[in-house]
Amino acid sequence: MKRRGSNLPRVGDYNQLLVLDLVRRSQNISRVELSELTGLSTQTVSNICARLVAAGLIEPAGRVEADTGARRTMFRVVPRGQYSVGLHIDPARMTLVLLNLAGEVEERASIETPTTHGPDDVLQAIVDAFADLVDRQEIGLGRVSGLGVSAPGPIMADSGSLVGPPNLRGWGVVRLRDELESRVGLPVVLEKDTIAAATGEHWAGGGTLSNFAFIYLGTGIGAGIVLGGEVMRGASDNLGEIGHLSGDPDGVRCYCGGRGCISITSAPLHLVSAAVDAGTIPAVDLGDPLAVETALGRLCALADGGEESAAAIVERSARALGRIAGKLANVLDLDAVVLGGPNWSALSRTYMRIMPSIAASLLTVRDVHTVEVRGTTLGEDAGAIGAASLVMSSMASARTDHLTLPPGLSR
Ligand SMILES: [Zn+2]
Repeated sequence: MKRRGSNLPRVGDYNQLLVLDLVRRSQNISRVELSELTGLSTQTVSNICARLVAAGLIEPAGRVEADTGARRTMFRVVPRGQYSVGLHIDPARMTLVLLNLAGEVEERASIETPTTHGPDDVLQAIVDAFADLVDRQEIGLGRVSGLGVSAPGPIMADSGSLVGPPNLRGWGVVRLRDELESRVGLPVVLEKDTIAAATGEHWAGGGTLSNFAFIYLGTGIGAGIVLGGEVMRGASDNLGEIGHLSGDPDGVRCYCGGRGCISITSAPLHLVSAAVDAGTIPAVDLGDPLAVETALGRLCALADGGEESAAAIVERSARALGRIAGKLANVLDLDAVVLGGPNWSALSRTYMRIMPSIAASLLTVRDVHTVEVRGTTLGEDAGAIGAASLVMSSMASARTDHLTLPPGLSR
């Protein structure tokens, strides 16, 4: 398998990233254990730990006595040693988070996406919100390693461009990465929101899952995939377009020729318009993403309260998505399907009641293992936390590039 390089301008050495990530995940680990886990020599691990300590990214955390009687120094990450900012662009709202090295959100901001004049207004709103977020913690740009941006695709990874995102009106091809890099003054990484969310679940969400799909419920629906602990991206970094998989054979006809495509049957717009047609909720402006989001919340609250027509609409979409979860688990041999995104908290009660058993019943290899269906550990900000995680996971060692090392500690 070809190992993909990062599009970041400065990337530290792979072994260093690996060690830092293990220290971060274990919270307390010795050089000997790091050597066993990485296959690196203890001397190499010692050199890397020295560099990471010098860079302020990890620190000694006491000594413990090993079985052999030797005393071993334990290491842990310094949470405030490094930060990244993550931004999620959604047609309805933009969310920014300031993430520390331990994967904790220290600040967040949510602003309405300016929709009237296309990308220029959006870029300026991002720059203002970014500056405000960093100023609030008084950390200075020196400790922020970059800005991760997640957005509805498609994207062109080489040029860092968004290509006419279907849910953002007035956008053609926007060179988002270059535009933001020049305005913010830091490296910028751009990723599809679905792939970013899967990255976030893997990096910041505790990291217990190695083979899972993250189904992202935003204005559209897509999936990010992690297999063998690696985030999958596909030929053009646009993996995860599950919208035209059918989860409802008797569902409405789609423009693609199929029936019951998930991009229609489980999209907020469809659920809300079905509820308006049924007289379950009052009419809303279906062209206004924020109004649709609010109406979806109202519909789900009615369903959770047992209102029959509301429950029928939400349950049907849950059954459809449950079938999609089962199909994905079969195709990719997944341990888990994780759900999240801006609309997850509204939908979660009905979806969690219905989806797990449907997905489990469709699993071809159920005699071998199970598939867990669960909500994200990242909350509503999964897209933004994922975007910040992208930066952290690929750049965390970059600062050590500039250190002058003592003799004997060369790379
Ligand atoms: Zn379709």
